[in-house]
Amino acid sequence: MHSQVQKLLELQKVDQEISSLTRDIDALPAEEQKRKRRLDELERTMAERRARLQKTDLEARALDKAVRGNDDEIKRLNERLNIVRNNAEYQATLFQIEAVRKDRDVTQDECLKLLESVDAQKVESTAAEAAHAEEKKIFDAFLVEAEALRQSRAGAIAAVRNRRKAMTEGVPADLLREYEGLYKTREHIAVSPVQASYCQGCYHKITMNDTARLMGLSVVVRCGSCQRILYLS
Ligand SMILES: [Zn+2]
Repeated sequence: MHSQVQKLLELQKVDQEISSLTRDIDALPAEEQKRKRRLDELERTMAERRARLQKTDLEARALDKAVRGNDDEIKRLNERLNIVRNNAEYQATLFQIEAVRKDRDVTQDECLKLLESVDAQKVESTAAEAAHAEEKKIFDAFLVEAEALRQSRAGAIAAVRNRRKAMTEGVPADLLREYEGLYKTREHIAVSPVQASYCQGCYHKITMNDTARLMGLSVVVRCGSCQRILYLS
């Protein structure tokens, strides 16, 4: 095998080792984002329901206050009945009392309806809080597990990376760049064996001329179809 290709083949084994060590760790940021989005969504729902509950509760309180104001007004008008001087004034006051009482009854009906809504919204708000708390617990546990995985892997990854660094020495920079590009874009196989004249990376037949060049060992040969760096196995 061509000596540079031999080096790249060994480098590829180490790169594959690194890939298998980092695969799950590399997937963590995307997973974290996905989970964070779900958590944020639940937090928004929780905030919306809380705000709605607060608004309904305030409205109900305002109506209740209005009812109590009406009650005071009725009480005051009833007291006036005792001191009016003539029948006309008495009748007018009675009309007033009736009008305020009607208002009061309408307002109280609305208030009761709102209080029913408050009860229903409290249930929804509590459910949203529980859903958020549950997801938050899961998310926090995920973060702890992810960090533990990163830490437990860090030593092994650093060791293999150091080993890799030493292995790249003596490989021409442009060949190394070419290899690294292929490694990324060709499913982690940049250097591929040729068996019975077929590139094992893409299963295309290689030319007689390329077979001769591979046997000659003096140049680096690429697959005409997938551009992988080839060697005879
Ligand atoms: Zn190929």
